[in-house]
Order: sequence, then C-alpha cells, then structure tokens
Amino acid sequence: MSCCFDYALYDALEFLVLMQTASLHHRKVWSRSPRLELFFLKTYARNGSYGCKWARLMMVVVIKSREGSIVMGKSLFTMELNGEPYDRGYKYGESCKNLIARMIEEQFFQEFSGKLTRDQLVRHARKYEPFIQDYSPEIADELKGMAEGSGQSYDEIVMVNALEERKAFERPHCTAFAATGNATVDGETYEGQSWDGIEGEWWDGELSLLFKVRRKNGPDLLNYTNPGILVCAGLNSNGIGINWNTVPQKEPTVGVPTYIIVAEILRQKTLGDALDAVTRADRAGYFNFIITDDTELYDVEATPSDTDISYGGEFVGHANHFVSNKFSSAENEGMTSSSIVRHNRINRLLKDNYGKIDLEVCMSFFRDHVNYPSSICCHPGDDPDPKQRGLTLDSWISIPSKRELWIAHGSPCKNEFVRFSL
Ligand SMILES: [Zn+2]
Repeated sequence: MSCCFDYALYDALEFLVLMQTASLHHRKVWSRSPRLELFFLKTYARNGSYGCKWARLMMVVVIKSREGSIVMGKSLFTMELNGEPYDRGYKYGESCKNLIARMIEEQFFQEFSGKLTRDQLVRHARKYEPFIQDYSPEIADELKGMAEGSGQSYDEIVMVNALEERKAFERPHCTAFAATGNATVDGETYEGQSWDGIEGEWWDGELSLLFKVRRKNGPDLLNYTNPGILVCAGLNSNGIGINWNTVPQKEPTVGVPTYIIVAEILRQKTLGDALDAVTRADRAGYFNFIITDDTELYDVEATPSDTDISYGGEFVGHANHFVSNKFSSAENEGMTSSSIVRHNRINRLLKDNYGKIDLEVCMSFFRDHVNYPSSICCHPGDDPDPKQRGLTLDSWISIPSKRELWIAHGSPCKNEFVRFSL
C-alpha cells in the first residue's frame, strides 16, 4: 500500500498540472487528450485495482469526460455584431466565410445535383428577393453585407435563407415548448427547443453559431443560427423570444422565407408587433412558432395563405405537425410518428411537472429518450439511410425576463447547458 500512496501523490500532482493546462483550452481538448488517456492507463496500471482512492477519483473524472466527448466537437462559435445592418452582415459573412460556402455547397448544390443546375437554383432564389426587400429593408441590407463579406453572391445568400422552404418533410425536426405563470416554480417564463438535424450536419460542432447583435434602433438580439442563415431562433432585449418547428410543407411558394420572418420577429419591441410580423408577411412556407415575452405565450401555426394564432395559456408544447383545428386535417400530409410521439411526450412532461418547472426541469425535458432514437433527445440509431439518422445538434432554454439563453451544444444528454446573456 505504501507504494500505492507514493505514486498516488505523484499522480495527483501530474493530474492537477494536466487539468490546469487543459482548462486553458476548451474542455474537449482535455476530454480527448491522448496525454490524459495515457496518464489514466499509467495510473491505473501503477495502482493496480481500485485499491487507491486517487486512482478511483481519476477514473471517474476520465470516464465522465469521455462520456462528455461523445457528441461534442468544436465549442459553440460566438461573436458580437454591431454597427449598421450592412456592417453587421459583412462581419458575419467574413467571419464564417468557409462555413457559409460549405452550407451553400452541401445544402443546395450537392442536394440538388442531377436534378437542378446551379443556375436554376440561383435563378429561383432571386425570386424571393423583392419580397424580402419589401418586408424588411434592414434585413435585406444585412444579407447584402453577408454576401459581400463571405464572397458569395446575394442570390446564394438569399437561397440559404430559404432553406426551410427547400426541405420536404423528410426527417425529425425539433421539439419546442414554453411554460409560464403557475406552471413554473417562480412564475418566470421558460421556453426552449431542440434543434434537430441529421448526423451528417453536425460538422464536428461547426454548424452552430451564436451572435450577440447590438442594434442602434431597436432591441439587441441573442441569435442562434447556422452558417449563412441570418437568424434561426433566439431572444431579444425586450424579452421577445421565438422557438419553432418545421411542419409539413405542402406547397411552399415564393415569398418571404420562414427564417426571414424569424429574424423580423426578433427585431420587434412588443408581442403584438411580433405577431404582426407573421401576419403581414407574404409567407413562402409553413411553420409553427412559439412566440413569448416575460409573461405571455402564443402559438402560431401558419401556411402561405393563412394563420392560426392561439393563446398558449400557461404551457405549450409542439413538434412537427399541425395541431390546430384549422390546419390539422388538411395540412398534415407527411406527418411522422416521431412527431406525434414527441408532441405528446413534451406536453405530458409539461403537465406532469406543472408548478415545478424550473431551469433544471426544462433541461431534463431535452434529455428525454422515450421512443429512442427518434426521441426528444434525438440520436442517429442504425438506419442505413444517412438522411434518416437524426441528431439533436443543439438545445436551449431561454428565460426572457433575465435575457438569458442556456445552450447545450451537441446531444443534451451528453453535454451541459451553458449560460449566455444579453
Ligand atoms: Zn440523448
């Protein structure tokens, strides 16, 4: 045992040095560090079985960190954007140049390879431009700046922002919720969603971006997005938040792309103006939005020609099919069983936790594995078709009154939620 003690002290010091070095970088560096792996094996070999408490402690830490690295990849990209709309777009484009190029290539040119030429795709994208210009000149300026900064054409940037209209309803796509008032422990509003894609879209963690946007004439934004898309979801400094779901896209048309409407909602100062941003748009696509402020929840289902706005009351949960009387019978062609299960599951979790919902409880919603792998926390499973191998890329919870966004980057069952604020 004395041998074990001597080595244990030495190992403990070496371990602390490694931790110190690793903490200078992102935690993935040390969770994947070959040095630490080697150190673990060496320590285990020296100390024999589990006889020494240091060996036990270090085993636990290393095993925990290994678990954490399963779906981790690069840390969440974050950046502050300020100045005029064009300048903010330019900075975004310049900083994410390679990722934006990859997004355009993979999500459009490769996706439509053999079906539509590059020229046909770009010409189609051009049709959205007058709608965006009429809807929000500020957003059009940001997109033009992004095009210039990234070295892509404006048509191509508009094309990426019409991503939602491109997609058929082919795979699992996000579960969203909001709760407030008596449903929560402290009366605060909590809202959030999973951002699901497919395993091939994880890009080692590089698909996800978080911008803090400082605007001269209106609310600032915490903007979660993917390369080339102006805004995917988020929260603004007036407490307006949006989380949302893809729903069956029966007949998308040319108009204001869904992502542009999301961007416009987050530029509004009041809940009423945020709802107007949906109804006044010549909508190109179909969607469900959960729009909130500090105390109120609204659920908005929409098609290009109509909307159904319902007051969420104290909680609302939604997945990827229409549930309103107006749309559920006629618009749900292509609805999946995964969406039905996730919709019912999130609403049950909200109901079962009524009065007890806080940040921790919300985090637990996103780690739910009922109907695994097509669960709220979505995993690839073993489907041979890569497009069916879903994955929760990010999940987040906002607390509008605190202007906070808590994000788990990667599978929420394997990664911690990290706080960001305006
Ligand atoms: Zn999971």
